[in-house]
Amino acid sequence: MSIDLQALEAALLSGERRGLAKALTLIESRRPEHRLLAGKLLSAIYAKTGRANRIGITGSPGVGKSTFIEAMGKFFLEQGHKLAVLAIDPSSPRSHGSILGDKTRMEELSVDPHCFIRPSPSGLSLGGVARRTRECVLLCEAAGYDTIIIETVGVGQSETLVSSMVDAFLFLQLPNAGDQLQGIKKGILELADLVVVTKADGAFEQAARRAVVDHELALHYMQPDPDRLPVKVMSCSAVEKRGLREIYETLLGNLKTLEADGRLQKRRQQQREEWFGTELQDQLMDLLLQDRGFKKQIQELRTKVSRGALSPTEAAQQAILGLDFKSIQGV
Ligand code: GDP
Repeated sequence: MSIDLQALEAALLSGERRGLAKALTLIESRRPEHRLLAGKLLSAIYAKTGRANRIGITGSPGVGKSTFIEAMGKFFLEQGHKLAVLAIDPSSPRSHGSILGDKTRMEELSVDPHCFIRPSPSGLSLGGVARRTRECVLLCEAAGYDTIIIETVGVGQSETLVSSMVDAFLFLQLPNAGDQLQGIKKGILELADLVVVTKADGAFEQAARRAVVDHELALHYMQPDPDRLPVKVMSCSAVEKRGLREIYETLLGNLKTLEADGRLQKRRQQQREEWFGTELQDQLMDLLLQDRGFKKQIQELRTKVSRGALSPTEAAQQAILGLDFKSIQGV
């Protein structure tokens, strides 16, 4: 694609949807010349970012994420917000989209002019998704979206990453999830700011009430984090549109409190520092891998490491000793 950066910046800042879509495509491109342009675009718009509420939403496939985001999203729109959703790509097997494998997730939201939905790029590693997702958030903010929802699914790692880029992290749980609480979910629970028990309607209503109590108990035994507010457990029915206002008010009320006492700014500051650290590592690695000799050496060392012939520590040391800095600086 040929890119007029100034025109793209203007289109983005004017809130034009096509401008945002084009900017996101540029950000997601892995071609080195696009990365350079993407960097320039990000610097140009950086001062216009940071004003949105960034909300992460996670939960196992089938818990009701897309139904919840659709209902909650519409509620946000009714309150006058502009909403961007960075969603799971249902066509990507690696992101474990909807269990139904349907392509019509959030159908009603996707046609609303005040809502922008972007599926995460498939084919990127977890780290790759995280790297681009942070940048996508900035672009959406520059385009005037005041609420950004980042949807994720997984068993830990993707949640940790997403929690490192949002102001509030919502953990959706099924009404009958009591037993699972003992297992892996506990680690994720530690990242949550709000737990929402889904499908609190019809035959599930009583189970949902019990699940709320179970989660409150589990949270009771967890060490409180002074940098955050106590985790609240709520329930809702996205289908019957019940509990949405309470979640909306709790969410925004909490963010207001955290902003007033400086904890939100502190969280963002820590996130920026962390992003800088990983970005530095990633960019250094990208730069090094442009050197063919280094790339080849890494492949050879990786084979030795995977065979167990060389320890990972020693292999990394050998790779660094073999670096030809002069040729890399010339890149
Ligand atoms: P995701 O895989 O987490 O995105 O889950 P979906 O949103 O696709 O929902 C999975 C299934 O749960 C679908 O059959 C939905 O109709 C159903 N579901 C979602 N939300 C609710 C709810 O509030 N109440 C009930 N009864 N079913 C729901």
